[in-house]
Amino acid sequence: METPNKEQIYISFLEAVNNASDPETLFNNTFQVIQQAFRATHINRVQLWKPIANEMSVYFDYCEPKESSMIKYRISVLPEKIKKILEKRKIWKYLDIKGESLNNFNIFSLIGIELRISEKDNWILVVTSKQKDLNLEKEDEIFLSKLAAIFEFAVSKIERFHKNNDQIKRLKNQNLTLIEQDQLKTNLINNISHELRTPLSSILGFSNLLLNKKHPEETIKEIAEQIQQAANRLSSLLSDFLQISNPAINLWTPKIEPCDLGEIIKTSIEEFAILNRGHKLCYNISDNYPIINTDQKLVRLVLDNLISNAVKYSPNGGTISVSLELPKKEIMVSILDKGIGISKEEQPKIFNRFYRSSNPRIKSITGSGLGLAICKEIITTLNGKIEVKSELSKGSTFSFTLPVN
Ligand code: ADP
Repeated sequence: METPNKEQIYISFLEAVNNASDPETLFNNTFQVIQQAFRATHINRVQLWKPIANEMSVYFDYCEPKESSMIKYRISVLPEKIKKILEKRKIWKYLDIKGESLNNFNIFSLIGIELRISEKDNWILVVTSKQKDLNLEKEDEIFLSKLAAIFEFAVSKIERFHKNNDQIKRLKNQNLTLIEQDQLKTNLINNISHELRTPLSSILGFSNLLLNKKHPEETIKEIAEQIQQAANRLSSLLSDFLQISNPAINLWTPKIEPCDLGEIIKTSIEEFAILNRGHKLCYNISDNYPIINTDQKLVRLVLDNLISNAVKYSPNGGTISVSLELPKKEIMVSILDKGIGISKEEQPKIFNRFYRSSNPRIKSITGSGLGLAICKEIITTLNGKIEVKSELSKGSTFSFTLPVN
């Protein structure tokens, strides 16, 4: 059979390598080309070996159809000789393989050339023959080295391509998250605009009532009270809305940093104590609590919301205490009040957006029904949990946990 023209094979190999976008295609192309180039020399397999500890594993096996595959076959008989090629990076010949398991695979001589794919990956390109003394001409050895060099280059190119692909995938995922966050924000804005309309219509309706007709003094007082209630609700909605749209407080992308919860509690309690002389505000912080990695601003927002509720919903004053404990691998902050409490039926609903209790005692207490929903969103984002224990007319304890890392 006529020996193929190596120049042509070389060019077609370059083309094939250029077109291969995954390692599998590259291996196939390489091995087909080598087989074609050395057809006259009785090569029956072209393989890629990979050292694993002191052994070699056949990582790829391109063999004649009648031979059985050696993929993942372990070759433990050659470690010393293999070490030598790894050191020298030369063409290495093993021309008379006798009585070894390789003979079972019809391998009686072989030639290996080391490939340096990366710092940690040393592979060996191996051509085998079913005859002894697979001795290549000098020119063939040079050709094999040239193919090996291109192969090395192509593998690193493909690896780079895959790394870039991973980066593209990561960016696409980030983009999806941003789209979801954007959707959440749009929903929140829609909800808030809708909620703003209700008190606004009350104010417009009741003020029209006042202007269009003469009323007895008592009725005027009642209408004015309705207007005031609606205006208060509007004001609460606006201040909560402003709070969550503050660019320094980003509910959707927390800024994680070391955080001293004890200090946050002390500062918050001291600030509330100045403004709320009718209540006794205190804290109880467990010794040796750990510094945790979390978003300080968001935790402070939750704490302030819960303390503010404890004050608001204890209209007769009383003690409000904040404690920091360390159950299991968590840190737990609890805010306890002796206020109006929440019925069992309403407890699961109060974390829903815009939910306000139907308890007549809260009619005169202003609020938007957004605070607890925001607290829950924040604590969930920070991988914690929030819950309430409460009894009507006795008081409530809101607790949130955060992981200790
Ligand atoms: P807001 O206080 O603005 O109405 P929140 O989301 O903070 O909204 O609270 C939702 C509801 O939960 C409140 O309307 C109130 O009925 C109830 N609530 C919250 N905190 C307490 C508390 N400490 N004691 C009693 N009821 C509370």
